[in-house]
Amino acid sequence: MNFESKPLLVFWETTRACNLSCVHCRASAITEPLPGELSTIEGMKLIDQVASFGKPYPTIIFTGGDPLKRKDLFELISYAARLGIGFALSPAVTDLVTPEILCKVKSLGASSISISLDGASHETHDSIRGREGTFEKTVETIQTAVRMSLNSQINTSIMKRNYQELPQIFRLIRGLSIKTWELFFLVRVGRGTSVQDLTPEEYESVCNFLYDASRYGIIIRCVEAPFIRRVAAERNERGSNRDCAEYQELRAQLEGQPMTQSTIRPRGTLDGDGIVFVAYDGAIQPGGLLPVELGNSKNDDLVEVYRSSELLRRIRQRDFKGYCGACEYKEVCGGSRARAFSYSGDPLSSDPACLWSFGRS
Ligand code: SF4
Repeated sequence: MNFESKPLLVFWETTRACNLSCVHCRASAITEPLPGELSTIEGMKLIDQVASFGKPYPTIIFTGGDPLKRKDLFELISYAARLGIGFALSPAVTDLVTPEILCKVKSLGASSISISLDGASHETHDSIRGREGTFEKTVETIQTAVRMSLNSQINTSIMKRNYQELPQIFRLIRGLSIKTWELFFLVRVGRGTSVQDLTPEEYESVCNFLYDASRYGIIIRCVEAPFIRRVAAERNERGSNRDCAEYQELRAQLEGQPMTQSTIRPRGTLDGDGIVFVAYDGAIQPGGLLPVELGNSKNDDLVEVYRSSELLRRIRQRDFKGYCGACEYKEVCGGSRARAFSYSGDPLSSDPACLWSFGRS
């Protein structure tokens, strides 16, 4: 996959307004929109810019905050759909998500809807999402979406307080007939700065567990943990895993025999390499968790910024520093550029969550 000339995905943070108050929220969302949010016309102009990447168009992920807080959301989605641009929606699960809304999303041709599930019980999930009753509503919403054959993906954010529940969340997801599980490894930005992160050993255990889980027929993708591809390569090539303390405990909770090859892709996207993010106010960034402003869609051309930014060019060329720069896995992995930035202020430095680089950089 070569993402030099166009990204695969354009994430558009349509608003920072949201009725939830998740402990790890990147956007530090509050209930009302912030001043400077793109207007309907400015949003349409942004969609035109996505179209000017040319066919096949990148997919737009309408995200937030909660995109359902925007009154013009379906006007914008319909505009993208009329241009033939694929889209996906990432709503917060609140009373704004109704069966009617799901039906509308499906009828407009959404490629998928992603729903967050951060715990296997209401105690964990509701305490992370900041509102009681969210767990029940989330399970209900997933069941409704699956019943109407709306392609549904579960997103789980991993942090110290929930990673030991991953086997139970996986069991729940399998029971709900979900085909894709996307796991977000914490990057300490926004409200996430006060959330406790995992150690590199714990991340290694989680990656090895997810590698095993990916052999049960569910597509597993990791966000801000490209080092899972290093783990997968080590497991595929050598059949070995690093014997991290908690891995065996997590793995022992997987039920049944693995049925398929691992669904972990050998190469994927990185912030700025296949992915670009546009914030609520038009700021263009390599990714949502990497708040380096490269331009603004109100005045700059998204295509031009994506293709010619010096930072994005260096990310795509794997021109990194420290151990990520010297690593034999940098082509397939590359490390989380967002985490490198959050720790060192330099998006090209090493990813400190990776056990491979830990203690050497
Ligand atoms: S050192 Fe960097 S490039 Fe190598 S596996 Fe770790 S995160 Fe990936």
